[in-house]
Amino acid sequence: MDSSHAIALASLLGPDSRVLTNPQIVERLSRDFYWYSPVLRRQLDGKVGDVVVQPLSVREIQSVLRYCRAHDIPVTTRGAGTGNYGQAVPLRGGVVLDLAGMDKIETIQSDGVAVCEPGVKLGVLENEARKLGWELRCYPSTIVKASIGGFLGGGSGGIGTVAHGGLRDFNTVRALEVVTMEAEPRIVRHEGEAVHEILHAWGTNGIITRIWLALAPAVVWSQCVVAFDTFDAAFDFSERMATDGGWTKRLVTTFEWPIPSFFKPVRRYAPEGKALVFFLIASEQLAALEAAAQQAAGEVTYSGAYSGLRTIPLLSDYTWNHTTLWAIRTDEAYTYLQCGFDPVTVRQQMHQLKERYHDEILFHMEFMKQGDGRVAPGAIPLVYYRNEERLNEMINFCREIGVFVANPHVNNVEGGGRYRSDHVQLLAKRRYDSKGLLNPGKMISFEPEGSTAGTAVTR
Ligand SMILES: Cc1cc2nc3c(=O)[nH]c(=O)nc-3n(C[C@H](O)[C@H](O)[C@H](O)COP(=O)(O)OP(=O)(O)OC[C@H]3O[C@@H](n4cnc5c(N)ncnc54)[C@H](O)[C@@H]3O)c2cc1C
Repeated sequence: MDSSHAIALASLLGPDSRVLTNPQIVERLSRDFYWYSPVLRRQLDGKVGDVVVQPLSVREIQSVLRYCRAHDIPVTTRGAGTGNYGQAVPLRGGVVLDLAGMDKIETIQSDGVAVCEPGVKLGVLENEARKLGWELRCYPSTIVKASIGGFLGGGSGGIGTVAHGGLRDFNTVRALEVVTMEAEPRIVRHEGEAVHEILHAWGTNGIITRIWLALAPAVVWSQCVVAFDTFDAAFDFSERMATDGGWTKRLVTTFEWPIPSFFKPVRRYAPEGKALVFFLIASEQLAALEAAAQQAAGEVTYSGAYSGLRTIPLLSDYTWNHTTLWAIRTDEAYTYLQCGFDPVTVRQQMHQLKERYHDEILFHMEFMKQGDGRVAPGAIPLVYYRNEERLNEMINFCREIGVFVANPHVNNVEGGGRYRSDHVQLLAKRRYDSKGLLNPGKMISFEPEGSTAGTAVTR
Protein backbone atom coordinates (compact mmCIF):
# COMPACT_ATOMS: atom_id res chain seq x y z
CA MET A 1 0.00 0.00 0.00
CA ASP A 2 1.30 3.44 -0.92
CA SER A 3 2.52 5.28 2.21
CA SER A 4 0.55 8.37 1.19
CA HIS A 5 -2.61 6.51 2.16
CA ALA A 6 -1.56 6.49 5.82
CA ILE A 7 -1.27 10.27 5.78
CA ALA A 8 -4.60 10.63 4.01
CA LEU A 9 -6.28 8.27 6.50
CA ALA A 10 -4.85 10.20 9.45
CA SER A 11 -6.34 13.40 8.05
CA LEU A 12 -9.80 11.80 8.22
CA LEU A 13 -9.61 11.14 11.95
CA GLY A 14 -9.94 13.32 15.04
CA PRO A 15 -6.96 14.25 17.23
CA ASP A 16 -7.32 11.28 19.63
CA SER A 17 -7.66 8.59 16.98
CA ARG A 18 -4.52 7.04 15.57
CA VAL A 19 -2.93 5.68 12.43
CA LEU A 20 0.04 3.42 13.20
CA THR A 21 2.72 2.46 10.70
CA ASN A 22 5.52 1.18 12.95
CA PRO A 23 6.22 -2.28 11.41
CA GLN A 24 6.51 -4.10 14.77
CA ILE A 25 3.20 -2.67 15.98
CA VAL A 26 1.47 -3.35 12.67
CA GLU A 27 2.77 -6.93 12.77
CA ARG A 28 1.61 -7.46 16.35
CA LEU A 29 -1.86 -6.11 15.59
CA SER A 30 -2.12 -8.29 12.47
CA ARG A 31 -1.86 -11.51 14.46
CA ASP A 32 -4.24 -13.61 16.50
CA PHE A 33 -3.94 -17.10 18.00
CA TYR A 34 -3.89 -18.88 14.62
CA TRP A 35 -0.71 -20.66 15.71
CA TYR A 36 -2.94 -23.02 17.72
CA SER A 37 -3.19 -24.89 14.44
CA PRO A 38 -0.02 -26.25 12.84
CA VAL A 39 -1.87 -26.09 9.53
CA LEU A 40 -2.78 -22.40 9.85
CA ARG A 41 0.67 -21.57 11.22
CA ARG A 42 2.17 -22.59 7.90
CA GLN A 43 -0.45 -20.66 5.92
CA LEU A 44 -0.56 -17.43 7.90
CA ASP A 45 2.91 -16.77 9.26
CA GLY A 46 4.14 -13.49 7.79
CA LYS A 47 0.72 -12.15 6.75
CA VAL A 48 0.47 -8.53 7.88
CA GLY A 49 -1.49 -5.38 7.19
CA ASP A 50 0.14 -2.18 5.95
CA VAL A 51 -1.27 0.20 8.51
CA VAL A 52 -3.36 0.09 11.70
CA VAL A 53 -6.21 2.57 12.03
CA GLN A 54 -7.76 3.09 15.46
CA PRO A 55 -11.03 5.02 15.10
CA LEU A 56 -13.05 6.26 18.05
CA SER A 57 -16.45 6.85 16.46
CA VAL A 58 -18.84 5.43 13.88
CA ARG A 59 -18.41 8.57 11.82
CA GLU A 60 -14.65 7.93 11.65
CA ILE A 61 -15.27 4.31 10.60
CA GLN A 62 -17.50 5.57 7.80
CA SER A 63 -14.78 7.99 6.65
CA VAL A 64 -12.14 5.25 6.67
CA LEU A 65 -14.35 2.82 4.74
CA ARG A 66 -15.37 5.46 2.21
CA TYR A 67 -11.68 6.21 1.55
CA CYS A 68 -10.65 2.56 1.40
CA ARG A 69 -13.43 1.66 -1.00
CA ALA A 70 -12.55 4.52 -3.29
CA HIS A 71 -8.90 3.36 -3.34
CA ASP A 72 -9.53 -0.42 -3.32
CA ILE A 73 -7.76 -0.89 0.02
CA PRO A 74 -8.64 -4.05 2.02
CA VAL A 75 -9.91 -3.56 5.58
CA THR A 76 -9.61 -6.24 8.25
CA THR A 77 -11.38 -5.52 11.52
CA ARG A 78 -9.76 -6.37 14.82
CA GLY A 79 -11.34 -6.61 18.26
CA ALA A 80 -8.75 -7.97 20.68
CA GLY A 81 -7.12 -10.51 18.36
CA THR A 82 -7.84 -13.55 20.55
CA GLY A 83 -9.48 -15.55 17.75
CA ASN A 84 -7.82 -18.86 17.09
CA TYR A 85 -8.44 -19.44 13.39
CA GLY A 86 -6.59 -16.50 11.87
CA GLN A 87 -9.91 -14.73 11.52
CA ALA A 88 -8.37 -11.29 12.10
CA VAL A 89 -5.17 -11.90 10.12
CA PRO A 90 -5.16 -9.77 6.96
CA LEU A 91 -4.43 -11.93 3.92
CA ARG A 92 -4.00 -9.08 1.45
CA GLY A 93 -2.42 -6.28 3.48
CA GLY A 94 -4.26 -2.97 3.73
CA VAL A 95 -5.84 -1.47 6.83
CA VAL A 96 -6.17 -3.27 10.15
CA LEU A 97 -9.18 -1.51 11.70
CA ASP A 98 -8.57 -1.80 15.43
CA LEU A 99 -11.77 -1.06 17.38
CA ALA A 100 -10.33 -1.48 20.89
CA GLY A 101 -10.86 2.22 21.59
CA MET A 102 -14.60 2.08 20.94
CA ASP A 103 -15.29 0.61 24.34
CA LYS A 104 -18.32 2.33 25.83
CA ILE A 105 -21.15 0.46 27.50
CA GLU A 106 -23.96 2.82 26.58
CA THR A 107 -26.47 1.35 28.99
CA ILE A 108 -27.65 -1.82 30.67
CA GLN A 109 -31.41 -1.63 30.33
CA SER A 110 -33.78 -2.64 33.09
CA ASP A 111 -34.88 -5.63 30.97
CA GLY A 112 -31.30 -6.98 31.04
CA VAL A 113 -30.19 -5.94 27.57
CA ALA A 114 -26.77 -4.29 27.36
CA VAL A 115 -26.17 -1.73 24.63
CA CYS A 116 -22.47 -1.52 23.77
CA GLU A 117 -19.82 -0.34 21.38
CA PRO A 118 -17.85 -3.20 19.77
CA GLY A 119 -14.57 -2.70 21.63
CA VAL A 120 -16.07 -3.33 25.08
CA LYS A 121 -14.15 -6.12 26.80
CA LEU A 122 -16.46 -8.98 27.75
CA GLY A 123 -14.93 -9.05 31.23
CA VAL A 124 -15.76 -5.40 31.77
CA LEU A 125 -19.33 -6.00 30.63
CA GLU A 126 -19.65 -9.00 32.96
CA ASN A 127 -18.41 -6.95 35.93
CA GLU A 128 -20.66 -3.99 35.16
CA ALA A 129 -23.66 -6.23 34.55
CA ARG A 130 -23.18 -8.05 37.86
CA LYS A 131 -23.31 -4.73 39.73
CA LEU A 132 -26.87 -4.39 38.37
CA GLY A 133 -27.95 -7.99 39.03
CA TRP A 134 -27.19 -9.37 35.55
CA GLU A 135 -24.43 -11.45 33.98
CA LEU A 136 -23.38 -12.64 30.52
CA ARG A 137 -25.39 -15.60 29.25
CA CYS A 138 -22.27 -17.12 27.69
CA TYR A 139 -18.67 -16.08 27.18
CA PRO A 140 -15.41 -17.43 25.82
CA SER A 141 -12.66 -18.45 28.23
CA THR A 142 -10.79 -15.39 26.88
CA ILE A 143 -13.40 -13.17 28.56
CA VAL A 144 -10.86 -10.84 30.17
CA LYS A 145 -9.25 -9.79 26.86
CA ALA A 146 -11.85 -10.51 24.19
CA SER A 147 -14.14 -7.80 22.84
CA ILE A 148 -17.87 -8.10 22.32
CA GLY A 149 -17.52 -7.16 18.63
CA GLY A 150 -14.94 -9.91 18.13
CA PHE A 151 -17.14 -12.41 19.98
CA LEU A 152 -20.02 -11.66 17.60
CA GLY A 153 -17.70 -11.60 14.58
CA GLY A 154 -15.80 -14.80 15.31
CA GLY A 155 -16.86 -16.56 18.52
CA SER A 156 -19.57 -19.06 19.28
CA GLY A 157 -20.08 -19.74 22.97
CA GLY A 158 -18.34 -20.96 26.07
CA ILE A 159 -18.91 -20.72 29.78
CA GLY A 160 -22.68 -20.46 30.29
CA THR A 161 -23.53 -22.30 27.05
CA VAL A 162 -24.55 -25.38 29.06
CA ALA A 163 -27.44 -23.30 30.43
CA HIS A 164 -28.12 -20.60 27.84
CA GLY A 165 -26.92 -22.02 24.55
CA GLY A 166 -24.40 -20.32 22.29
CA LEU A 167 -24.22 -16.75 21.15
CA ARG A 168 -26.48 -17.50 18.21
CA ASP A 169 -29.23 -19.16 20.25
CA PHE A 170 -32.27 -17.90 22.15
CA ASN A 171 -32.22 -14.37 20.74
CA THR A 172 -29.14 -13.54 22.83
CA VAL A 173 -27.97 -11.01 20.25
CA ARG A 174 -31.08 -8.88 20.09
CA ALA A 175 -29.83 -6.43 17.47
CA LEU A 176 -26.72 -4.90 16.00
CA GLU A 177 -25.70 -2.09 13.72
CA VAL A 178 -23.17 -2.50 10.93
CA VAL A 179 -21.37 -0.01 8.77
CA THR A 180 -21.32 -1.10 5.16
CA MET A 181 -18.42 -1.00 2.68
CA GLU A 182 -20.40 0.86 0.04
CA ALA A 183 -19.34 3.98 -1.86
CA GLU A 184 -21.32 5.86 0.76
CA PRO A 185 -21.04 3.65 3.89
CA ARG A 186 -24.39 3.32 5.65
CA ILE A 187 -25.30 2.30 9.18
CA VAL A 188 -27.75 -0.60 8.92
CA ARG A 189 -29.63 -2.08 11.87
CA HIS A 190 -30.16 -5.85 11.98
CA GLU A 191 -32.52 -7.32 14.53
CA GLY A 192 -34.21 -10.64 15.25
CA GLU A 193 -33.37 -13.26 12.60
CA ALA A 194 -31.43 -10.67 10.58
CA VAL A 195 -28.56 -10.65 13.12
CA HIS A 196 -27.53 -14.05 11.68
CA GLU A 197 -26.54 -12.34 8.43
CA ILE A 198 -23.66 -10.75 10.34
CA LEU A 199 -22.86 -13.11 13.24
CA HIS A 200 -19.75 -15.22 12.74
CA ALA A 201 -19.00 -13.66 9.35
CA TRP A 202 -15.46 -12.73 10.48
CA GLY A 203 -15.94 -9.07 9.61
CA THR A 204 -16.33 -9.92 5.92
CA ASN A 205 -19.71 -8.28 5.39
CA GLY A 206 -19.84 -5.20 7.61
CA ILE A 207 -18.30 -3.57 10.66
CA ILE A 208 -20.38 -4.11 13.80
CA THR A 209 -20.55 -0.78 15.60
CA ARG A 210 -23.37 -1.16 18.13
CA ILE A 211 -24.72 -4.25 19.90
CA TRP A 212 -27.82 -5.08 21.91
CA LEU A 213 -26.92 -8.17 23.97
CA ALA A 214 -29.40 -10.00 26.23
CA LEU A 215 -28.01 -10.89 29.69
CA ALA A 216 -29.15 -13.41 32.32
CA PRO A 217 -30.09 -12.72 35.95
CA ALA A 218 -26.91 -12.94 38.04
CA VAL A 219 -26.35 -16.04 40.18
CA VAL A 220 -24.10 -16.48 43.24
CA TRP A 221 -21.66 -19.11 41.97
CA SER A 222 -19.26 -21.62 43.51
CA GLN A 223 -16.52 -23.64 41.87
CA CYS A 224 -15.96 -27.33 42.38
CA VAL A 225 -13.57 -30.02 41.10
CA VAL A 226 -14.51 -33.70 41.25
CA ALA A 227 -12.10 -36.55 40.47
CA PHE A 228 -13.15 -39.99 39.21
CA ASP A 229 -11.21 -43.22 38.77
CA THR A 230 -12.27 -43.54 35.13
CA PHE A 231 -13.21 -41.18 32.32
CA ASP A 232 -16.45 -43.12 31.82
CA ALA A 233 -17.53 -42.44 35.41
CA ALA A 234 -16.59 -38.76 35.09
CA PHE A 235 -18.50 -38.46 31.84
CA ASP A 236 -21.59 -40.21 33.24
CA PHE A 237 -21.68 -37.84 36.21
CA SER A 238 -21.04 -34.70 34.17
CA GLU A 239 -23.68 -35.66 31.62
CA ARG A 240 -26.21 -36.20 34.42
CA MET A 241 -25.47 -32.78 35.93
CA ALA A 242 -25.44 -31.02 32.57
CA THR A 243 -28.70 -32.45 31.27
CA ASP A 244 -30.73 -32.28 34.50
CA GLY A 245 -32.47 -28.90 34.43
CA GLY A 246 -32.74 -28.93 38.23
CA TRP A 247 -29.10 -27.93 38.56
CA THR A 248 -28.19 -24.26 38.08
CA LYS A 249 -24.79 -24.39 36.41
CA ARG A 250 -22.53 -22.28 34.25
CA LEU A 251 -19.77 -24.76 33.54
CA VAL A 252 -19.54 -28.56 33.38
CA THR A 253 -16.24 -29.64 31.83
CA THR A 254 -14.85 -33.16 31.74
CA PHE A 255 -11.20 -34.05 31.21
CA GLU A 256 -9.60 -37.36 30.45
CA TRP A 257 -6.25 -38.05 32.14
CA PRO A 258 -3.52 -36.83 31.45
CA ILE A 259 -5.13 -33.50 30.48
CA PRO A 260 -5.43 -32.38 34.15
CA SER A 261 -1.68 -32.88 34.55
CA PHE A 262 -1.15 -29.97 32.11
CA PHE A 263 -2.85 -27.49 34.45
CA LYS A 264 0.21 -26.60 36.51
CA PRO A 265 -1.38 -23.97 38.82
CA VAL A 266 -4.21 -26.34 39.86
CA ARG A 267 -2.28 -29.59 39.60
CA ARG A 268 -2.81 -30.23 43.31
CA TYR A 269 -6.54 -30.81 42.69
CA ALA A 270 -5.79 -33.47 40.07
CA PRO A 271 -4.93 -36.85 41.59
CA GLU A 272 -2.58 -38.87 39.39
CA GLY A 273 -4.34 -40.87 36.70
CA LYS A 274 -7.88 -39.61 37.44
CA ALA A 275 -10.42 -37.94 35.21
CA LEU A 276 -11.73 -34.57 36.42
CA VAL A 277 -14.93 -32.57 36.17
CA PHE A 278 -14.87 -28.78 36.69
CA PHE A 279 -18.09 -27.07 37.78
CA LEU A 280 -19.44 -23.59 38.22
CA ILE A 281 -22.59 -24.31 40.22
CA ALA A 282 -25.08 -22.14 42.10
CA SER A 283 -23.68 -21.76 45.64
CA GLU A 284 -26.98 -22.86 47.15
CA GLN A 285 -26.55 -26.21 45.34
CA LEU A 286 -22.87 -26.79 46.15
CA ALA A 287 -23.48 -29.09 49.12
CA ALA A 288 -25.98 -31.13 47.12
CA LEU A 289 -23.50 -31.39 44.23
CA GLU A 290 -20.77 -32.60 46.56
CA ALA A 291 -23.09 -35.22 48.03
CA ALA A 292 -24.16 -36.38 44.56
CA ALA A 293 -20.52 -36.60 43.48
CA GLN A 294 -19.61 -38.74 46.48
CA GLN A 295 -22.57 -41.02 45.83
CA ALA A 296 -21.23 -41.49 42.31
CA ALA A 297 -17.82 -42.49 43.75
CA GLY A 298 -16.30 -39.12 42.90
CA GLU A 299 -13.79 -37.35 45.15
CA VAL A 300 -14.28 -33.59 45.62
CA THR A 301 -10.72 -32.26 45.42
CA TYR A 302 -11.59 -28.57 45.52
CA SER A 303 -14.59 -26.36 46.18
CA GLY A 304 -14.82 -22.70 46.97
CA ALA A 305 -16.68 -19.46 46.41
CA TYR A 306 -16.51 -17.74 43.04
CA SER A 307 -16.06 -14.02 43.48
CA GLY A 308 -15.74 -12.92 39.89
CA LEU A 309 -13.01 -13.06 37.27
CA ARG A 310 -10.22 -12.40 39.79
CA THR A 311 -11.03 -15.55 41.77
CA ILE A 312 -7.96 -17.75 42.34
CA PRO A 313 -8.03 -20.41 41.09
CA LEU A 314 -10.34 -19.44 38.25
CA LEU A 315 -11.45 -22.81 36.92
CA SER A 316 -12.75 -21.39 33.63
CA ASP A 317 -9.11 -20.59 32.77
CA TYR A 318 -8.64 -24.33 32.12
CA THR A 319 -11.81 -24.95 30.11
CA TRP A 320 -13.10 -24.37 26.57
CA ASN A 321 -10.20 -23.39 24.35
CA HIS A 322 -7.91 -22.60 27.26
CA THR A 323 -7.50 -26.35 27.74
CA THR A 324 -5.71 -26.48 24.39
CA LEU A 325 -3.41 -23.64 25.45
CA TRP A 326 -2.31 -25.52 28.59
CA ALA A 327 -1.65 -28.62 26.47
CA ILE A 328 0.42 -26.70 23.90
CA ARG A 329 2.45 -25.18 26.74
CA THR A 330 3.24 -28.71 27.89
CA ASP A 331 3.97 -30.17 24.47
CA GLU A 332 3.85 -28.14 21.25
CA ALA A 333 2.69 -31.18 19.30
CA TYR A 334 -0.82 -30.87 20.74
CA THR A 335 -3.53 -29.30 18.69
CA TYR A 336 -7.31 -29.75 18.77
CA LEU A 337 -10.68 -30.31 17.12
CA GLN A 338 -14.13 -28.91 17.88
CA CYS A 339 -16.78 -31.61 17.90
CA GLY A 340 -20.45 -32.15 18.53
CA PHE A 341 -21.49 -35.66 19.60
CA ASP A 342 -24.84 -37.37 19.26
CA PRO A 343 -26.51 -37.25 22.70
CA VAL A 344 -27.78 -40.83 22.29
CA THR A 345 -24.74 -42.56 20.80
CA VAL A 346 -22.00 -40.40 22.31
CA ARG A 347 -20.42 -43.29 24.26
CA GLN A 348 -20.25 -45.46 21.18
CA GLN A 349 -18.78 -42.58 19.15
CA MET A 350 -16.12 -41.92 21.79
CA HIS A 351 -15.35 -45.61 21.96
CA GLN A 352 -14.87 -45.78 18.17
CA LEU A 353 -12.50 -42.81 18.27
CA LYS A 354 -10.50 -44.24 21.16
CA GLU A 355 -10.25 -47.64 19.53
CA ARG A 356 -8.85 -46.11 16.36
CA TYR A 357 -6.65 -43.32 17.72
CA HIS A 358 -5.83 -44.32 21.31
CA ASP A 359 -3.96 -41.46 23.04
CA GLU A 360 -3.63 -39.53 19.82
CA ILE A 361 -7.02 -38.10 20.85
CA LEU A 362 -7.71 -37.02 24.44
CA PHE A 363 -11.25 -36.18 25.46
CA HIS A 364 -12.10 -32.75 26.79
CA MET A 365 -15.89 -32.48 26.87
CA GLU A 366 -18.09 -29.40 27.14
CA PHE A 367 -21.88 -29.42 27.22
CA MET A 368 -24.01 -27.17 25.06
CA LYS A 369 -27.68 -26.31 25.22
CA GLN A 370 -29.07 -26.50 21.70
CA GLY A 371 -31.67 -24.24 20.11
CA ASP A 372 -34.32 -26.93 20.79
CA GLY A 373 -33.55 -26.84 24.52
CA ARG A 374 -31.69 -30.18 24.69
CA VAL A 375 -28.23 -30.24 26.25
CA ALA A 376 -25.79 -32.09 23.99
CA PRO A 377 -22.22 -33.22 24.58
CA GLY A 378 -19.61 -31.29 22.67
CA ALA A 379 -15.87 -31.66 22.81
CA ILE A 380 -12.69 -29.77 22.16
CA PRO A 381 -10.52 -32.89 22.17
CA LEU A 382 -6.76 -32.60 22.13
CA VAL A 383 -5.09 -34.16 19.14
CA TYR A 384 -1.45 -35.18 19.12
CA TYR A 385 -0.47 -33.79 15.72
CA ARG A 386 1.52 -35.94 13.34
CA ASN A 387 0.79 -34.39 9.95
CA GLU A 388 -2.02 -32.74 8.03
CA GLU A 389 -3.09 -35.94 6.26
CA ARG A 390 -3.53 -37.73 9.56
CA LEU A 391 -5.49 -34.79 10.99
CA ASN A 392 -7.80 -34.72 7.98
CA GLU A 393 -8.24 -38.46 8.19
CA MET A 394 -9.35 -38.06 11.80
CA ILE A 395 -11.79 -35.29 10.85
CA ASN A 396 -13.22 -37.47 8.08
CA PHE A 397 -13.56 -40.42 10.42
CA CYS A 398 -15.41 -38.25 12.97
CA ARG A 399 -17.84 -37.21 10.26
CA GLU A 400 -18.26 -40.81 9.05
CA ILE A 401 -19.39 -41.91 12.50
CA GLY A 402 -21.76 -38.95 12.87
CA VAL A 403 -19.59 -36.64 14.97
CA PHE A 404 -19.97 -33.02 13.83
CA VAL A 405 -16.65 -31.18 13.37
CA ALA A 406 -16.28 -27.40 13.21
CA ASN A 407 -12.84 -27.54 11.66
CA PRO A 408 -10.49 -25.10 13.41
CA HIS A 409 -7.73 -25.69 10.86
CA VAL A 410 -9.27 -23.72 8.02
CA ASN A 411 -9.08 -19.99 7.45
CA ASN A 412 -12.44 -19.28 5.88
CA VAL A 413 -15.96 -18.75 7.16
CA GLU A 414 -17.44 -21.56 5.10
CA GLY A 415 -15.02 -24.23 6.29
CA GLY A 416 -15.23 -23.46 9.99
CA GLY A 417 -18.58 -25.07 10.69
CA ARG A 418 -20.59 -21.95 11.59
CA TYR A 419 -21.42 -20.87 8.06
CA ARG A 420 -25.17 -20.71 7.52
CA SER A 421 -26.46 -23.20 4.98
CA ASP A 422 -29.00 -20.58 3.84
CA HIS A 423 -26.03 -18.39 2.80
CA VAL A 424 -27.33 -15.28 4.59
CA GLN A 425 -23.78 -14.14 5.45
CA LEU A 426 -22.75 -14.38 1.79
CA LEU A 427 -25.87 -12.55 0.62
CA ALA A 428 -25.16 -9.73 3.10
CA LYS A 429 -21.61 -9.53 1.78
CA ARG A 430 -22.87 -9.09 -1.73
CA ARG A 431 -25.10 -6.24 -0.58
CA TYR A 432 -22.65 -4.46 1.71
CA ASP A 433 -19.22 -5.19 0.24
CA SER A 434 -19.63 -5.77 -3.48
CA LYS A 435 -15.95 -5.11 -4.14
CA GLY A 436 -14.90 -7.73 -1.58
CA LEU A 437 -12.63 -5.45 0.43
CA LEU A 438 -13.67 -6.52 3.94
CA ASN A 439 -11.28 -9.18 5.29
CA PRO A 440 -10.71 -10.45 1.74
CA GLY A 441 -10.07 -14.13 1.19
CA LYS A 442 -12.04 -15.25 4.25
CA MET A 443 -15.40 -15.81 2.56
CA ILE A 444 -14.32 -18.03 -0.27
CA SER A 445 -17.70 -18.47 -1.96
CA PHE A 446 -17.83 -14.72 -2.62
CA GLU A 447 -16.74 -13.29 -5.96
CA PRO A 448 -16.48 -9.51 -6.41
CA GLU A 449 -18.98 -7.66 -8.63
CA GLY A 450 -18.39 -8.15 -12.33
CA SER A 451 -17.16 -11.71 -11.80
CA THR A 452 -19.26 -14.54 -13.15
CA ALA A 453 -17.71 -17.23 -10.99
CA GLY A 454 -19.70 -16.61 -7.81
CA THR A 455 -21.81 -19.22 -6.02
CA ALA A 456 -25.29 -19.37 -7.55
CA VAL A 457 -27.16 -18.19 -4.49
CA THR A 458 -30.06 -15.81 -4.76
CA ARG A 459 -32.82 -14.59 -2.54
C1 LIG B 1 -7.17 -19.55 24.77
C2 LIG B 1 -8.38 -19.27 23.90
C3 LIG B 1 -9.64 -19.64 24.36
C4 LIG B 1 -10.78 -19.37 23.59
N1 LIG B 1 -12.01 -19.79 24.02
C5 LIG B 1 -13.11 -19.54 23.28
C6 LIG B 1 -14.39 -19.96 23.73
O1 LIG B 1 -14.55 -20.53 24.80
N2 LIG B 1 -15.46 -19.67 22.94
C7 LIG B 1 -15.34 -18.97 21.78
O2 LIG B 1 -16.36 -18.73 21.12
N3 LIG B 1 -14.14 -18.57 21.34
C8 LIG B 1 -13.02 -18.83 22.06
N4 LIG B 1 -11.82 -18.39 21.61
C9 LIG B 1 -11.74 -17.53 20.42
C10 LIG B 1 -11.83 -16.02 20.77
O3 LIG B 1 -11.13 -15.73 21.96
C11 LIG B 1 -13.26 -15.52 20.99
O4 LIG B 1 -14.09 -15.88 19.91
C12 LIG B 1 -13.32 -14.01 21.21
O5 LIG B 1 -14.63 -13.67 21.54
C13 LIG B 1 -12.86 -13.20 20.03
O6 LIG B 1 -12.89 -11.83 20.41
P1 LIG B 1 -11.76 -10.82 19.91
O7 LIG B 1 -12.16 -9.45 20.36
O8 LIG B 1 -10.43 -11.25 20.32
O9 LIG B 1 -11.95 -10.95 18.34
P2 LIG B 1 -10.88 -10.89 17.17
O10 LIG B 1 -9.99 -12.08 17.25
O11 LIG B 1 -10.23 -9.57 17.15
O12 LIG B 1 -11.84 -11.00 15.92
C14 LIG B 1 -12.54 -12.18 15.63
C15 LIG B 1 -13.21 -12.02 14.26
O13 LIG B 1 -14.25 -11.06 14.35
C16 LIG B 1 -14.02 -9.98 13.45
N5 LIG B 1 -14.42 -8.76 14.13
C17 LIG B 1 -13.87 -8.21 15.24
N6 LIG B 1 -14.54 -7.10 15.59
C18 LIG B 1 -15.53 -6.94 14.66
C19 LIG B 1 -16.54 -5.96 14.46
N7 LIG B 1 -16.70 -4.92 15.28
N8 LIG B 1 -17.35 -6.10 13.38
C20 LIG B 1 -17.23 -7.15 12.53
N9 LIG B 1 -16.29 -8.10 12.68
C21 LIG B 1 -15.46 -7.99 13.74
C22 LIG B 1 -12.55 -10.02 13.12
O14 LIG B 1 -12.31 -9.48 11.83
C23 LIG B 1 -12.27 -11.51 13.16
O15 LIG B 1 -12.62 -12.08 11.94
C24 LIG B 1 -10.65 -18.69 22.35
C25 LIG B 1 -9.38 -18.32 21.89
C26 LIG B 1 -8.27 -18.60 22.65
C27 LIG B 1 -6.92 -18.16 22.14
